[in-house]
Amino acid sequence: MDGPTRPSPCHSQTDALNDELKERLTMSDTHVDSCRCDKTQGEVKMRSKRFGRGAVESGLTHECGVFGAIGTGDWPTQVDVAQVICLGLVALQHRGQESAGIVTSEGKSARIFNSHKGMGLINNIFNDEAMKKLKGNLGIGHTRYSTSAASEEVNCQPFVVHTAHGALAVAHNGELVNCSSLRKMVLGRGVGLSTHSDSELITQALCLNPPEGETNGPDWPARINHLMRLAPLSYSLVIMLKDKIYAVRDPYGNRPLCLGKILPLGSSYAYKQSSAQHAAVLMNGSAKNGLDDKAEGWVVSSESCGFLSIGARYVREVLPGEIVEMSRHGIRTVDVVERPADKQQAFCIFEYVYFARADSIFEGQMVYSARLQCGRMLARESPVDADIVSSVPESGTAAAHGYARQVIGYLTSFCPGLHSRDRDMFTVRDKSGSNPCPYCIFHSDWLSCWSAIGFFLWVHIRIASPPLKYPCYMGINIPTREELIANKMDSNKLAEHVGADSLEYLSVEGLVSAVHYNMKTTPSDGVGGHCTACLTGEYPGGLPDDVDW
Ligand code: SF4
Repeated sequence: MDGPTRPSPCHSQTDALNDELKERLTMSDTHVDSCRCDKTQGEVKMRSKRFGRGAVESGLTHECGVFGAIGTGDWPTQVDVAQVICLGLVALQHRGQESAGIVTSEGKSARIFNSHKGMGLINNIFNDEAMKKLKGNLGIGHTRYSTSAASEEVNCQPFVVHTAHGALAVAHNGELVNCSSLRKMVLGRGVGLSTHSDSELITQALCLNPPEGETNGPDWPARINHLMRLAPLSYSLVIMLKDKIYAVRDPYGNRPLCLGKILPLGSSYAYKQSSAQHAAVLMNGSAKNGLDDKAEGWVVSSESCGFLSIGARYVREVLPGEIVEMSRHGIRTVDVVERPADKQQAFCIFEYVYFARADSIFEGQMVYSARLQCGRMLARESPVDADIVSSVPESGTAAAHGYARQVIGYLTSFCPGLHSRDRDMFTVRDKSGSNPCPYCIFHSDWLSCWSAIGFFLWVHIRIASPPLKYPCYMGINIPTREELIANKMDSNKLAEHVGADSLEYLSVEGLVSAVHYNMKTTPSDGVGGHCTACLTGEYPGGLPDDVDW
């Protein structure tokens, strides 16, 4: 086998080393006070706190989750809409834990929505009393991680505004890359804004009449189309009116959004399938179970991982640029806003690497299977003569499986008690040299797990992601360039720095190839392109002129 074999111990494992490692770990917590974004060719300098968009701490953090549900047929619906949304938000909680909100409508009045929002986790916000007031036949919800405005109650979503044509509620995942120009335009039309939030801006922009005018009352698809032409990325939106929900994805398809069907109680599929069978059905459009059942309702969600818990079946993704109308009669596409002809889809590849739950489905494949393939690809690119490959629970499990299958032919054992989040893998041996114990460690605080190195003689680190080098302008709070360790040290220096025998990343080509491995479509079909900007510095659509952070 190529790659590192079993050398003599290259470092002494002493308590002093552990102390030194602990000291080094503080690097990952370092914050830099000044780095304004200065655009140059593939090179970005930035500040640790965003400029002019609310005080947001640095750190690689998730974005937001949006969810919507509507009962079909006669109203009042049999579907407990608020409960469905609450469960859907629980499944999306990994995308944001700062605040959450639900807004419902009974479909009778264009003026009255029921709303409950608060700071903290879903379980704490939505107690029995709050749920009782959220009566409705349709509703939308949001779980928030702040990227463009402070983490305060005033910025909790969904936003609700009252227009001349009734109330409008909006939940948003993403970040507008041309927020400044859109803000100026909205303010210039005489609309006041009370927060720095993109989401409020979107809500107010939707209240503007489209340039084509409206002859017979508000034309909401035309208004949404107008907004999408003003703001090309990045967002997934759920927009609620009195009796309709619009599900909207930006023309680049940067942020995820998918549709599901609520199946009737007692449906052969909804309540009698195991998780494995459910996964098989999700992945196999020809599966019989439940496919012909009449829908009791429809849901829209940032990820499909919550569908099983609400008895819903995954149907499909909202396509890039698509506006889907959800009503008591079902769902239909009302418009598709095209991106420029020379631009490919730019779905965030970091959803596969890190953000999404492993049991979610994107582009016809489970995130788990893409991560498994990342591990296989990494093993091909950077093999290690390992006896066991293991992972820190749990987000690295799939990559560790893939790596282990490729390199040593059997699965991982896990080392509980270590906490980490990203996708880094290393193999280790205990001090005797005879009891190998490899790990898979993950993400921005993955260095926090390095104290474990002190217990082993040989350490080989394998990271199932390319090095993160550039900021994200599209709704992900990525640390500053100064904080990203890949900008300070190459892999050899980093290995030496943390006391490892070797350290290798998955290549960008390897990641893209792994993600495409099980996909049914390719970029040459016009779909299936991915944003890799934080890895390559190549931003979809080009870097906008008015980036303001
Ligand atoms: S820059 Fe990175 S995190 Fe941001 S959308 Fe692109 S791939 Fe995702």
